Amino acid sequence: MLEDLLRLPRGTVRNILIGELGDNMDIATCQGCPLYQNLDPRPGRKHLPVPGEGPVPCQIMVIGEAPGADEADSGRPLVGASGKRFDMLVRQAGFRREGLFITNLLKHRPPKNRPPQVKEVKACAHFLEQQLLEVQPSVVITLGRHAAHYFDKSIQLVKDHGMARRFAEDSGLPFLLIPMYHPAAALYNGGMRETLIEDFKKIPVILKKIGSEN
Ligand code: SF4
Repeated sequence: MLEDLLRLPRGTVRNILIGELGDNMDIATCQGCPLYQNLDPRPGRKHLPVPGEGPVPCQIMVIGEAPGADEADSGRPLVGASGKRFDMLVRQAGFRREGLFITNLLKHRPPKNRPPQVKEVKACAHFLEQQLLEVQPSVVITLGRHAAHYFDKSIQLVKDHGMARRFAEDSGLPFLLIPMYHPAAALYNGGMRETLIEDFKKIPVILKKIGSEN
């Protein structure tokens, strides 16, 4: 489905999608899978959809797996402990978080932060595809295995992390895909911290290379 949409002429796609994306009301009212009703049992905690945030269009799009508790409570992607780690990685690479478009495969939080299920990813994919078409990124960074496998199931993070690969080259919207570990992994694994820092520092080099090729 993604490949089909990406093959549409760029102008056509943008015209179709501008009205549909609106202010994310489709996501706010979606009942496409059971996750919209997965209420947080803790008093005072909200269960908000997390559409994503950032400039549109945007050169860099970051795609995680699904909202966690802090994200569902605030309605914003990558906040809380792993969000702080992510912000630090972005700063160390010389970027500002506000300059990136950040979203997830799933827009609602799975119970107990379990991994996304295939049927949930399928039900939610059209939102991500709309966002890809609207954001028109040159670089897509995936965080974690599930986000990487949405695009290419052959990716093995242990050997492919931080390596850019061309994606959707025969479409009107080609981009470089860079699979990375999720920043949450660095919270529990000190060695992973250095790996993530090194991978994020490759982004400016890759962008410079893209710029020199255009
Ligand atoms: S996770 Fe996606 S498909 Fe499921 S209810 Fe939320 S927005 Fe709809």
